[in-house]
Amino acid sequence: MGRFHCSSHNLEYNSVCPACRDEQAEADRSEILESLSTQTDEMKRQLAYLSYKQGNPGDYKCPECLYVTLKREARRCPVCHSAITKEYWEEIARKAREDAEQRAKQEKVAKEAAEEEKRRKEERLLQEKKQAEKIAWEAAEAKKEAKEAVQLFLGIVFFLGFAALCLVKIISWFN
Ligand SMILES: [Zn+2]
Ligand SMILES: [Zn+2]
Repeated sequence: MGRFHCSSHNLEYNSVCPACRDEQAEADRSEILESLSTQTDEMKRQLAYLSYKQGNPGDYKCPECLYVTLKREARRCPVCHSAITKEYWEEIARKAREDAEQRAKQEKVAKEAAEEEKRRKEERLLQEKKQAEKIAWEAAEAKKEAKEAVQLFLGIVFFLGFAALCLVKIISWFN
């Protein structure tokens, strides 16, 4: 019989619950394995990049061997030793310019679309505000008219009451 009781495992123990200890060890083990596997993946990725870079040490593709071996404006491929023509570099520059223009055009279109969307939204908000103001104005007008009608009615009642009073007075004089 141990001194303590583990409620998770329903076990008696003296210093540490053996089932809890085993569970903790297992958790630690899988944590270490997981971290190792993450590190291995990262190492594999870096090795793959290094070996790619070894075979493709440049920034541009060689038109002959098709490896990425060329630095900008290189005259010769360091791998297959083919001569690289001036036309090839002109073509590369032309493509880069076209890409940049294309990108700029797309950015412009996206920007214009965003501005148009913003303008429409502002217009919509303005319309909604005007509509709300109109409704509030109409409500205030209706209230004013109702008040005026009540005042007119009270005025008539007061006048009629006054006239009746005068009539009663006049009749009482004649009597
Ligand atoms: Zn336990
Ligand atoms: Zn080459």
